[in-house]
Amino acid sequence: MSEPFPPLEAEIRRRIAAAGAMPVMQYMTLCLTHPTYGYYVTVDPFGAAGDFTTAPEISQMFGELIGLWAGSVWRQMGSPTPINLIELGPGRGSMMQDALRAANVMPEFRSAIVLHMVEVSPILEKRQREFLGGSVPTHWYQALEEVPEGPSIILANEFFDALPVHQAVMCADGWHERVVKIDENDKLRFGIARDPIPLFEQLLPRGMRSQIGEIFEWRADQIALELGRRVKHGEGAALVIDYGHIKSAPGDTLQAVGKHQYADPLLALGQVDLTAHVDFQALGDAAESMGARAFGPLDQGEFLHRLGIETRANALKSTAPPSKVIEIEQALQRLTGTTGRNMGHLFKAMGFAHPRLGPLPGFDP
Ligand code: SAH
Repeated sequence: MSEPFPPLEAEIRRRIAAAGAMPVMQYMTLCLTHPTYGYYVTVDPFGAAGDFTTAPEISQMFGELIGLWAGSVWRQMGSPTPINLIELGPGRGSMMQDALRAANVMPEFRSAIVLHMVEVSPILEKRQREFLGGSVPTHWYQALEEVPEGPSIILANEFFDALPVHQAVMCADGWHERVVKIDENDKLRFGIARDPIPLFEQLLPRGMRSQIGEIFEWRADQIALELGRRVKHGEGAALVIDYGHIKSAPGDTLQAVGKHQYADPLLALGQVDLTAHVDFQALGDAAESMGARAFGPLDQGEFLHRLGIETRANALKSTAPPSKVIEIEQALQRLTGTTGRNMGHLFKAMGFAHPRLGPLPGFDP
C-alpha cells in the first residue's frame, strides 16, 4: 500500500501514534533538521526564488560592516594571532565573504583569521565552500562545542531564531507543554499535554505576568551558555543579530515561511522554514552566567548607523550606475528603516565580550 503522506509527515505521524502527542520542540527539531527530510538538510532557502531573504543577502554593506566590526574588536583584544572567527549558521556564506573582503583594509587582521563555520546543512556547507573559495583557512563543524578553543570572535545572524523552541500553555492547574497531535479528522493539530509541567513557575522569568491560555516559549540554553563560556575563556567577543523581544514575555511566535509568504506550521512539513522570536533577555542571562558581559540589545538600524552604513552607502553610490544607486538606497532602507517589513527596528543586535575588553564597537554609550 502506498504511503498517503510525504515521508517526514508519515514519520511524525508514526511517532505520535507510537508515543503520543509530540512536544512542539521535538516537532520543530524534526521539521528543521531531520537527518534525511529536514528543511535545512534538503532546501537552499535563500534568495528571490527561495523562501526568505536575510540582511547579508540584501546588501554587501551588511557583511562589510560586520567584517570591520570584527577587525576593530580584534584590535581591542590586543590583536591575537591566530584569531578564530566563528560563524554560527552562515547560510550561503555571503556575510563572511563580504566581511573578508572588507577586512582587506586591515591586512594584519585578515591574515590572522582562521575561519570556523558551524553549519548543520550539507547543502549550505557546499555553497559556503564554493563561495569562500579557500582564501582563508576554513573548517566546518556541526556544533559550536567542536570548534577548537582559543581567542575567538563569534558571529551569528538569524541563527538563534532557527533553533527549536519549547512552548508551554498556562492552564488553571499550571503550565502544560504544547504538543502536536492527530485530531479526530486525522489532521495534525496543536494541543496541550495532559499533565502540568512540575514546578514550571519557578523556571519563569521573575515578575513575568501571564494569564490562562497564554503561551510561553523557551529554548535550550546550551548554545548561549557555550557562546558565553567561549567569550570568557577565549577573552573574545560575540555578535548576535536577530529578531525577537528584549524582555522575556508570553506570546506564541512560532511561524512558518515558504516562498516569502507566511504558511501553516502544521502543513508542508520540512518544506517551509519554522522559526520563533529570540528572547534576548534569556540569551543575555545565559551568556552572562558563564562570565561574558552583555551589551544591548540595540535596534539593528541604530547599530548599523553607528557602524557607518550611510557613509558606506554613499561610497558605493558614488561609483554605481543610476539603476544600482536606487538598489543601494532601497537596501539601506530595508536594513535600517523602522517601518513595515524593514529590518531596522524588528531586528536587534546584541554584543558579548570578556569583561576586560570594555564596550564593543557600536555598543558604546
Ligand atoms: N546567517 C545566514 C543564514 C541564516 S538561516 C544569513 O544571515 O543569511 C539559519 C542558518 O543556520 C542556516 O545556515 C542553517 O542551515 C543554520 N542552522 C540551523 N539550525 C542549525 C543548528 N542547529 N546548528 C547549526 N546550524 C544551524
